[in-house]
Amino acid sequence: MSAVGVAVKSPTKTSSAKDYIHGVIEEIRTKNPAEPEFHQATQEVFESLVPVLDRHPEYRSAKLLERIAEPERVIMFRVPWQDDRGEIQVNRGFRIEMNSAIGPYKGGLRFHPSVTLGTLKFLAFEQVFKNSLTTLPMGGGKGGSDFDPKGKSDNEVMRFCQSFMTELWRHIGPNTDVPAGDIGVGGREIGFMFGQYKRLANEFTGVLTGKGLNWGGSLIRPEATGYGTVYFADEMLKAQKKSLSGKVCLVSGSGNVSQYTVEKLLDLGAKPVTISDSDGMIYDADGITRDKLAWVMDLKNVRRGRISEYATQFKNAKYTALDHKLGYNPLWDIKADCAFPSATQNEINAKDASNMIKNGVALVAEGANMPSTLDAIQIYLDAGILYGPAKAANAGGVATSGLEMSQNSMRLSWTRDEVDDRLHKIMIAIHKNCFDTAERYGTPGNYLNGANIGGFVKIANAMLDQGLV
Ligand code: NAP
Repeated sequence: MSAVGVAVKSPTKTSSAKDYIHGVIEEIRTKNPAEPEFHQATQEVFESLVPVLDRHPEYRSAKLLERIAEPERVIMFRVPWQDDRGEIQVNRGFRIEMNSAIGPYKGGLRFHPSVTLGTLKFLAFEQVFKNSLTTLPMGGGKGGSDFDPKGKSDNEVMRFCQSFMTELWRHIGPNTDVPAGDIGVGGREIGFMFGQYKRLANEFTGVLTGKGLNWGGSLIRPEATGYGTVYFADEMLKAQKKSLSGKVCLVSGSGNVSQYTVEKLLDLGAKPVTISDSDGMIYDADGITRDKLAWVMDLKNVRRGRISEYATQFKNAKYTALDHKLGYNPLWDIKADCAFPSATQNEINAKDASNMIKNGVALVAEGANMPSTLDAIQIYLDAGILYGPAKAANAGGVATSGLEMSQNSMRLSWTRDEVDDRLHKIMIAIHKNCFDTAERYGTPGNYLNGANIGGFVKIANAMLDQGLV
């Protein structure tokens, strides 16, 4: 019987690896109803693992897929706080400690009204494989809350963060679980949470990453996810003897990942032409230049305004409000060479993917986590374009968090160039691992298989070594 009292048919030992994997996917759906994003993430990874299980029956007998899909621990708690009018608000807090086979749990915190247990389980699951690919010793976790920082005063955000950390602090630690930022959690929120942790634990340790530079943060951490995604795209193109120079690029979102994706694209001579937020998109055919990017950073990070203001400031740019009834996003329906989805999960559906291919997009590098639906991914693979999946392409953020942890442990700070150089080398190594693994398992050029298999094998072997825990 499953956890919800439904009889679940266990796949038999004699079934093929493919049938066995589909049995496990079915079991996950039954055991975790109402978690569609978690179903999607597990299906995407497990379907890549058929050739691995064919070669390694020991993974199957150790029930590694069943174990890896079950979080080691889920923490869920009440977060009460008072708003500026003195009214009591109640949010829900979570931390998913997914897998610690290769190191302490590591992964961001997301504050967004759409956050549910299922969203965070999908993110924590992805994080396990991503962290494995970074070459650093980090397990996987994720957490957050359905709290919406948008429109809240700094004092409200501080009161919420303090209440959130008042429960979370007892579950985390520099050798146990080290959270970071994600959607809705930037330097301001990390600061408030670090302050409360320090007060409760009575110690100054590297328990969070993404800290301010004066109090244990690392240079390049804010830039790392965007920079890393562009480094990964550059490697994919280099493997085909091409480059980003002169390429027209679509970028979605206008938060942390998008801003530094645009910056690194400009460094490498590409031409970013779009940017967006949850209300709408900007198309700037002249290109988003460094001056325009500086204006966007001030708009989003300081004034906390909406992206529609871009079109008022820069007259040649066009703003289009997002219309969910349309069934597709016009941002992905523009003539371009490369696409960098950097906003949120499932922002590219099958129609969007077809539009991209029709408009000449020949490379997709995912800065956001799981931005493409399973159907959209199939369209990229069928079209044979370069597809850099999130768990490889955006791993530079968590890798640099790992570098922040190392600097904290050694109580020293590396220079900007030193961190950027390490980040760049890590992205080159991740690309090589995915490229070589895809080839070794008979699917050359398929970075999705390369990332899933490369990430999985390291975790699987560590789990086997550590026995049934
Ligand atoms: P962020 O700074 O909060 O920015 C998120 C951006 O995406 C904002 O422009 C936001 O618009 C937009 N957005 C959010 N939800 C949306 C929705 N439902 N529809 C359309 N647009 C939406 O967050 P971030 O850190 O850049 O994260 C973006 C993505 O990258 C996420 O998938 C995250 O998991 C992933 N990621 C982040 C890191 C990191 O280091 N930060 C590392 C790896 C992966 P509004 O302002 O209107 O909400």
